[in-house]
Amino acid sequence: MSQGTLYIVATPIGNREDITLRALRILDEVDIIAAEDTRKTGMLLKHYNIKKPLTSYFEHNEKRKTPALIQDLQSGKNIALVSEAGTPTISDPGYRLVHAALQEEIPVVPIPGVCAAITALSVSGLPVHRFAFEGFLPPKTGKRKNFLKKLVNEERTLIFYESPHRITAALEDIREVFGDRPAVLTRELTKMHEEHMQGSISTIIESLAEKSLKGEFTLVVAGNSPAKKHS
Ligand code: SAM
Repeated sequence: MSQGTLYIVATPIGNREDITLRALRILDEVDIIAAEDTRKTGMLLKHYNIKKPLTSYFEHNEKRKTPALIQDLQSGKNIALVSEAGTPTISDPGYRLVHAALQEEIPVVPIPGVCAAITALSVSGLPVHRFAFEGFLPPKTGKRKNFLKKLVNEERTLIFYESPHRITAALEDIREVFGDRPAVLTRELTKMHEEHMQGSISTIIESLAEKSLKGEFTLVVAGNSPAKKHS
């Protein structure tokens, strides 16, 4: 029997219409959907009237579940991997499964779609010809500042994911290490309360002080301009 295919399927980061026709077809055709959050994916599938067996695949079971999913693929089953939102493997589970599948010469097919980092960058108004995605910053200030110090001379536009309860502290550390650079803080992209806060990091910190810090944030920060480069 021929092997199945592993599909890496991007799903919306908010607005349910942000899913491709191909993604919907693949989700409808596969044998199993491995989902980071079965409840959320279940709601998305229900919205599109897709009925498929779901199995959970998230940070705390991915090591244990990967061999079973590889066996399913080897027995000819087609599997779609989806994360809670956006593109699987990007600050989300999936790397381990993709790596294991490729080692076993199982076909891995991307079904591209939304990614919060690229969505935020596209409206940032900051240089986009070269950029660096840095994912989540370390949660504690000491490690965060050390991490940022290694990026201080980076000329590419920088993209960070951040949680609502750390966003102000992270911005303060970024200002301290990088200086008061231009930045854009996006909140709740594609959702009802979508917001883009533009300006210097100080301006953004000020505007955050007047708001509720709920929702999901992606931060885009200008790279170091060569003229102002630190040694
Ligand atoms: N795999 C996802 C992707 O492709 O964007 C990212 C998953 S990561 C666990 C979740 C983080 O992405 C959030 O903490 C936030 O920083 C960012 N994010 C996700 N949805 C967002 C949204 N609607 N608006 C702004 N940022 C978002």
